[in-house]
Amino acid sequence: MIIKTRFAPSPTGNLHFGNIRTALYSWLYAKKNNGIFVLRIEDTDQNRSKSIFSKNIFDTLKWLNLNWNEGPFFQSKKIKYYQEIISYMLKKGFAYKCYCNNDVLLTMKKKKISKKEKPRYDGRCRNLDKNFHSLNKYVIRFKNPMNGIVSFNDMIRGNIKINNSELDDLIIQRANGIPTYNFCVVIDDIDSNITHVIRGEDHINNTPRQINILKVLQAKIPSYAHLSMVMNSNKKNFSKRDNSTKILTYKKLGYLPEAILNYIVRLGWSHGNQEIFSIKEMIQFFNFKSITKSSSIFDLNKLLWINKHYMNISNQKYIKEIIFYYFKKNNLDYKFGPNLDKIIENFLPHSYTIQDLFNSIVDFYIQDNNIMYPDCINSYLNFDTLNILETIYKKILILKDWNLNVILNIIKNVSLCLNVSLKNIIIPIRLALIGKIHSIGINKIIYFLGKKKSLLRLNKFIEHIKMLLFL
Ligand code: GLU
Repeated sequence: MIIKTRFAPSPTGNLHFGNIRTALYSWLYAKKNNGIFVLRIEDTDQNRSKSIFSKNIFDTLKWLNLNWNEGPFFQSKKIKYYQEIISYMLKKGFAYKCYCNNDVLLTMKKKKISKKEKPRYDGRCRNLDKNFHSLNKYVIRFKNPMNGIVSFNDMIRGNIKINNSELDDLIIQRANGIPTYNFCVVIDDIDSNITHVIRGEDHINNTPRQINILKVLQAKIPSYAHLSMVMNSNKKNFSKRDNSTKILTYKKLGYLPEAILNYIVRLGWSHGNQEIFSIKEMIQFFNFKSITKSSSIFDLNKLLWINKHYMNISNQKYIKEIIFYYFKKNNLDYKFGPNLDKIIENFLPHSYTIQDLFNSIVDFYIQDNNIMYPDCINSYLNFDTLNILETIYKKILILKDWNLNVILNIIKNVSLCLNVSLKNIIIPIRLALIGKIHSIGINKIIYFLGKKKSLLRLNKFIEHIKMLLFL
């Protein structure tokens, strides 16, 4: 038997960590078994499905290298085909037209609730005369078995049993003629020969309903695994509308795809105490037995830690290529600054994301004339700053031994000599050199900018103050 899994998102929002975990586990299970991973876009809800979200699905999976072997299949392109099967089911008596309008359904519901019964549809249109004709709108319902039990063995949760008497006669075609989710899923799983359905636990109530449809169509019942939810740090379910959990936001923030996958695989699955997994190891060790039944909570600090790890074990050429992209986006040319390899080598071990790394190094590549000063600069344009900067300038000018410690000592020395706190020495130098109050260590800035550039920028700032002070 060829193992076939599928990822079947609805394009109604952007993929988040919970969605991608479903995709990853399905992908891993297929890979582990030399199977096939299918991508299906469940876009029958015409009001909520948007092509921009389908694009988000493709872009996210491609960025994470979760390549699919078959598809993407779009349900919206199969409407006629689903309708033909529904007609067949009507003919065979597996389904029936239901003419109950909203008022009828509401009264039915109220009555059931007042009798403390489950507010299910009571099946009153089940036995309408074959020749019954009406011009009223109708939906098509599946004739769910009235008795017996439907059971399945969930690969994570064990045996699950539901009495058919608990289940509604499910609507499989809406009044506008569009088939519903529960029906299309069943047909597509049959058509794609899906052997393992891996999805969120929000679908666990749909499974017995889908199994009943599979049974009347005499199809093979796949195995099921329902994954617990992933929640945000406020213990709320993730939403496809929330940009802060959108996976591609993390691409923009400078996370590596390897780190995202490694973080996600551990959201509810474990292999001993191991935290870091290569893709090969994920495929090798993945199994359903070690998946937890309880919900997982998103932990940004852990993701940052994993990302830092991957940044530091990655080939530096790979990191440099992503940094190039940041340069391009920011209209900067790395040729205007110090040697990029050296800079990356120095700042990489302290960076949690590529964005972090870029933030630490960007100041070295801004052209001397493009430094932007903050508003608070005015409170520094005075004689004290002038004195500090002129003293530093002179010391750097005669400096022969260009190394980080020596530069730091010069700054400390100036602080002592002028009797000004180290902090009040450093801020004016930072302003002069990079136009910022906060930054990485000032000695690193001077060191990597180099003597020529440091002196040039100090001088420019000194001249600016002098001009303001009419000197
Ligand atoms: N389209 C469903 C969703 O986005 C998934 C259905 C399934 O996996 O069966 O939640």
